[in-house]
Amino acid sequence: MTTFQEQNATDIAGSQTSAAGPGRSPALEFASAWDYAPAPESTKVEIADTYGHFIGGKFVDAAKGGTLDTLNPANETKLSTFARGTAEDIDAAVKAARDAQPKWAALPAKERGKYLYRIARRLQERAREFAILETMDNGKPIKESRDVDIPLVAAHFFYHAGWCDKLKYAFGGAEPKPVGVCGQVIPWNFPLLMAAWKLAPALACGNTCVLKPAETTPLTALRLAEVFDEIGLPPGVVNIITGDGEAGSALVEHPGVDKVAFTGSTEVGKKIARAVAGTGKKLTLELGGKSPNIIFDDASIDQAVEGIVSGIYFNQGHVCCAGSRLFVQEGVADEVVAKLKIRLESLRVGDPLDKNTDVGAINSRPQLETIAKYFDIARDEGLGVYESSCELPSSGFWCKPSFFTGVQASHTVAREEIFGPVLAIQTFRTPEEVITRANNSPYGLAAGVWTDKGSKIFEIAGQLKAGIVWLNTYNRFDPASPFGGYKESGFGREGGMQGLRGYVRLG
Ligand code: NAP
Ligand code: MG
Repeated sequence: MTTFQEQNATDIAGSQTSAAGPGRSPALEFASAWDYAPAPESTKVEIADTYGHFIGGKFVDAAKGGTLDTLNPANETKLSTFARGTAEDIDAAVKAARDAQPKWAALPAKERGKYLYRIARRLQERAREFAILETMDNGKPIKESRDVDIPLVAAHFFYHAGWCDKLKYAFGGAEPKPVGVCGQVIPWNFPLLMAAWKLAPALACGNTCVLKPAETTPLTALRLAEVFDEIGLPPGVVNIITGDGEAGSALVEHPGVDKVAFTGSTEVGKKIARAVAGTGKKLTLELGGKSPNIIFDDASIDQAVEGIVSGIYFNQGHVCCAGSRLFVQEGVADEVVAKLKIRLESLRVGDPLDKNTDVGAINSRPQLETIAKYFDIARDEGLGVYESSCELPSSGFWCKPSFFTGVQASHTVAREEIFGPVLAIQTFRTPEEVITRANNSPYGLAAGVWTDKGSKIFEIAGQLKAGIVWLNTYNRFDPASPFGGYKESGFGREGGMQGLRGYVRLG
């Protein structure tokens, strides 16, 4: 077996040179690769019948032998069987991570950076395969996994590779030390992207990780383990335990974990905060949202309608920062709703592997049932319900892109996170009124503002209680830009210099 030092000695400088030639940015290289490549859906992706946990650099069976299945939500066929983690598996993974951590932290920082660069490069090389697998396991349209998720995953590793040997400049002179072993639990809406958001900063700061993917979407994280193996990441630096909430809570509660990072529902986030309280573990929580998307009457209405569509129908609305509460100024409300109806009809709903599909499958039957419950509630509460007239496939989990009208702040669909392609529309008269109503939520993750007036943009954005405010755009992400919420949307930031703070101890 190769030692850490031998692996350090490996010269990977060549692999950092872009195949497209030096001087081209990875993003450009990626875009041109897709421009000229045949349609990705023609690529055959091999999926094993069964997957074990990834512990200490090896795939192993679950200690108690339990398994779960993962489905393609677009047709309900089984994709694979994977190990169901228990406390025993978590214990083995934490031990492997503890063993590796001092050695990983002791590497010269730029050597750690080389590993992260290698992961990013390999992800780019295998991007098409990752995009297809993500779409099959999650149900999201291939054009989103191909053009948004996977490029952002690679970008996240590139970005953090750059931080490895510059960490001392991130904290105003204080010397950063790794936290230790990180226990990271992620959801199903952006499976590989959430893995990257968790792993890349942790590794850059000299920590080792145990990652628990969501029960319905384990496959891309397991394939990422293959990449770790390919690029020679030392054993135990990243360990992946698949399974359900039992594995998640065993990870959170394990005494050998020094830092817990969670993305998912506010309900589970509160349980985790209680489990971690008093243990001395560091904690960051990225939870739910009910984000306001505000259209003023001086906005470019056509652009704003596009922003509404990307705000709530992107990724079937399975987005924690989705613009699910639309506020439209009264003078343009009829025009916005009329244009939105036309735009809804143009959205193609169906086979996620078809590159022309705009809205894919709902990730699971339980999530579809949750969304259906909110339609019943909206009708019971007397709201107008508008659904696209598209036809839905006969098998799989599907929801037509829809919106509710006549919504007031007290209505359930204006208050609770639905996590589907469903929008609650409200109208307002004055800026003061919309600021008060937009902030009237237990959540505070994101917001959107649409106006042609620069002064109004700054005035409104400064008064919105949200971690991210998008101006004349929505759902735009960049690894250099911190992401996170206030109130019941959680605490701590992911991405950017601020995102490193959760993975170091200072002094
Ligand atoms: P969830 O239950 O919060 O699941 C997120 C992750 O936590 C999954 O890996 C889950 O495993 C794990 N988990 C479940 N119970 C746990 C526990 N007690 N301790 C530690 N980990 C635990 O979210 P969900 O069930 O997938 O979705 C429910 C709702 O959460 C959605 O309708 C949506 O409103 C919200 N949500 C928000 C986000 C976000 O990004 N903010 C993402 C997803 C969902 P399993 O996969 O086995 O459950
Ligand atoms: Mg699945």
